[in-house]
Amino acid sequence: MVNLEVRTNEPVEIVDITDHVQEAVWKSDVTHGIVLVFTRHTTTGLLINENEPNLIRDILDHMEELVPRGKSYRHNTVDRNAHSHLRSSLLLNPSVTVPIDAGELQLGPWQRILLVELDGPRHRKVTLMICPCERETV
Ligand code: ZN
Repeated sequence: MVNLEVRTNEPVEIVDITDHVQEAVWKSDVTHGIVLVFTRHTTTGLLINENEPNLIRDILDHMEELVPRGKSYRHNTVDRNAHSHLRSSLLLNPSVTVPIDAGELQLGPWQRILLVELDGPRHRKVTLMICPCERETV
């Protein structure tokens, strides 16, 4: 198991962690298998998508439209980040899984692994589990 430490700088932000995941796979001895990428926080999520600045802005703006910050959510009486929890539970997942072959992440040409910060800035932990799979005998 590998833990990545990610420092975010904004209240909402998308951080491309693909290169860190690939480095961890290279350091492991797994050449054929899967990597599970898991965020350990209730106000972050993971996405696989294109890291294009205008698209990133569109994703964040769309989240704001779907789950606006300023509504009077019940959880805000406990801790004023209900919108962050709602965005992560309704729009994102805590994990993504990527196949590995020849030691390389098998992502499509435009696919990147993106950590979505929804209640930053904070120090975040992302756990990787890099597992070998038996080779297919087809
Ligand atoms: Zn909370």
